[in-house]
Amino acid sequence: MKYNRTYNFSAGPATMPEEVLEEVRDEMMNYRGSGMCVMEMSHRSKVYQQIIDEAEQDLRDLMGIPDNYKVLFIQGGATLQFSMIPMNLMKNGKAVYIETGAWSKKAIAEAKKVGEVIVAASSKDKNYTYIPDCSDLDIPEDTDYVYICENETIHGVTWNKLPNTKGHVLVSDQSSMFLSKPCNVSDYGVIYGGVQKNIGPAGLAIVIIREDLIRDDLTDLPIYLQYKTHADNGSMYNTPNCWAIYVCGKVFKYLKKLGGLEEMEKINIDKAKVFYDFLDQSKLFKGTVVPEDRSLMNIPFVTGDPDLDAEVIAYTKKAGFENLKGHKSVGGLRASIYNAMPKDGVIALVDCLKKFEAEH
Ligand SMILES: *Cc1c(COP(=O)(O)O)cnc(C)c1O
Repeated sequence: MKYNRTYNFSAGPATMPEEVLEEVRDEMMNYRGSGMCVMEMSHRSKVYQQIIDEAEQDLRDLMGIPDNYKVLFIQGGATLQFSMIPMNLMKNGKAVYIETGAWSKKAIAEAKKVGEVIVAASSKDKNYTYIPDCSDLDIPEDTDYVYICENETIHGVTWNKLPNTKGHVLVSDQSSMFLSKPCNVSDYGVIYGGVQKNIGPAGLAIVIIREDLIRDDLTDLPIYLQYKTHADNGSMYNTPNCWAIYVCGKVFKYLKKLGGLEEMEKINIDKAKVFYDFLDQSKLFKGTVVPEDRSLMNIPFVTGDPDLDAEVIAYTKKAGFENLKGHKSVGGLRASIYNAMPKDGVIALVDCLKKFEAEH
């Protein structure tokens, strides 16, 4: 393999497109004649303004973001959004959350510190291995929003059909599926995600928010926690995560060149099928999620015997595959196969697991 790189199945920070890393390398010492590296540049410079403007425009093109939505680049990762969302969106102090795994659970815990949280559906009864039926939820009229985590990174479940919010604003954490497939932005009030799963370097969240949800009556809220602050200042109220925005911008261009999100989805479906087909015929390994709610991005799987799982992890590591240990709450193994994981990597991993199975 070029550069002697490993196939990295980390859930995040995660593998990046090599083409993007090469471009970053080539621009490291002197970004396009500026005489400096992007990490050395003033965020108020013309050259940096162009980087952030292009990044936003390319993201708008990719997702088809309507003009009445703002794109915000905010530090603090996805975790800060667990707090910012209720702080900014709870007008009536009430929100509906759907509990589908570790990340929605964390969001629920934070929202409870701000207002009333109604968990209208949960898959906790089966350790978050499916998406509950949300076609006819009990949603109080004065609910401010309905919240989902659209792809549960740890439990490996994904929403193939959005919940019926009965006209209420939908808020979605897309961290681990951002840009993995087309997205109809107008179905949502807010879409957000930490970028280190499927896009770029850690420490940045992208928030796509419908303009009418940005309030100017929240003057008691610390200024950095108001969406308005970020919206009014082009995501540069203070120094933004310049470097992460720069690299994300490169990934947006890479995805556009690839053919956009329709093409990316085709590649992701094809790639995930290699792995799920293997799991479905294996006598040793099995996926933990019901087939209809399986994630294209994060695939938890087990042998059923924790000692054997540990053996598999050691075996794959020795063969050059990294970060396959499952999250402690699920156990077993997890292969994260984000946009940047090539199909060859998945095929190679499946071959390795087949070999293990044959030997055991
Ligand atoms: C990783 C992750 C988060 C937390 O992201 P940070 O940037 O580390 O705060 C939140 N939600 C989902 C779905 C994630 O995968």
